[in-house]
Amino acid sequence: MQNIKPGLTALSDALDIAFAEVPVMVPAQERPIQECYGSVLRQDVIARVSVPSVDNSAMDGYAMRHADLANVNGPIPVAGVSLAGRPFAGVLPEGAAIRIATGAAIPSGADCVIIQENVTANDDETEITIDPDVIARTSLHQNIRWTGEDIKAGDKILSAGGVLRPQDIAIVAGQGFSVLSVARPLKIAVFSTGDELARPGDILPPGGIYDSNRFAMIGMLRDIGCEVTDLGLLADDFEVLENALTDAAKNHDVIMTSGGVSVGKADLLKPVVDRLGEITAWKLAIKPGKPLMRGKIGNCLVIGLPGNPVSVLVSGLLYVVPVLRHAMGASRSALAPVRIPVCAGFDFKRRAGRREWLRARLVQNADGAFEAIAFSSTSSGMLSSMVWAEGLIELPESCTQVSKGDQVLYLPLSGLQ
Ligand code: AMP
Ligand code: MG
Repeated sequence: MQNIKPGLTALSDALDIAFAEVPVMVPAQERPIQECYGSVLRQDVIARVSVPSVDNSAMDGYAMRHADLANVNGPIPVAGVSLAGRPFAGVLPEGAAIRIATGAAIPSGADCVIIQENVTANDDETEITIDPDVIARTSLHQNIRWTGEDIKAGDKILSAGGVLRPQDIAIVAGQGFSVLSVARPLKIAVFSTGDELARPGDILPPGGIYDSNRFAMIGMLRDIGCEVTDLGLLADDFEVLENALTDAAKNHDVIMTSGGVSVGKADLLKPVVDRLGEITAWKLAIKPGKPLMRGKIGNCLVIGLPGNPVSVLVSGLLYVVPVLRHAMGASRSALAPVRIPVCAGFDFKRRAGRREWLRARLVQNADGAFEAIAFSSTSSGMLSSMVWAEGLIELPESCTQVSKGDQVLYLPLSGLQ
């Protein structure tokens, strides 16, 4: 039982509906791998080569035949050298060692590597001596990395729908691929509305506030690889908004706005979208961020976020980012935020009915254990709370109180982008 307030949609339902209704909006395109960081992968990647490509040494040291160690009674001749990229060509002679570098191929006949720190070499490195206790501790296959133990040729190493991280690009590069098929970035037009707003750089009229939301939206969208057109600041005026939306819908995949989606006199975005297209979703059971609108004008997706700065960031990260990633072809598994169970270091009371996120940090308590603390205010107007926060605490719809020591879910902000 979620105890959702009547007239509102639970976030999980709203996301399910959006994933079902919003199509994958952009085609795949081939791009050089160095331009693919953060993009949505649109192909499976199959390994072309095994890694390692040959059995090789995990350490700098001496390659030997393990069976020979039982017969050591004096210095051991060094019969050659195997370096990374320059392997020892012959077969390891009986009773001998081969000097070997990390990553170098294991010479034929050798089946263990003794690290150089455990060996004493003579001045010209033609002989080594090894202490009996080192010999006793050396096991068959010690310090050998086997062909294909990391990746086997033919294995699927990445799946379509993932968001590419540095390690993903690295593994692809390690397979010799120089291009990948990824989503063409969504083209998104962004603007803020509100007659009280001024542009940063302009003089602030009495009672005015600077437009900060546009800069939060642009950053969130760029972080997920969208191509943003900044349409600036628009007045709370039906015709101004109608013209801007009509034009932007012609050459953008998405329009994203802040402000003007509540039910006040100056909240004109909803009626304008209603006139030009249709409203497909409205009002989520979330706090902050309840008056959130999804609509469309032709094939252009329109997302109207409320004006409160914390609402923009929270609903942006928890609703808009997953929906837009989905529109670029991301799989469901790539869209779920990281939720970590942690101990609450605070008390909190509230009314049930909406899922709520408190601005949070993890701190060490007197016992050295980590616990989550919450910002002193839950106001959705306080942008300073988001600057202070390193994560969010998620309270389920049915929750009415949190007591110190309760388990709560912590969502690191870094895991939401
Ligand atoms: P609204 O959703 O338009 O009713 O706005 C709700 C609150 O957010 C009001 O206090 C606005 O002044 C504030 N607000 C609206 N848009 C912005 C913006 N772009 N930047 C900062 N604050 C805003
Ligand atoms: Mg407004």
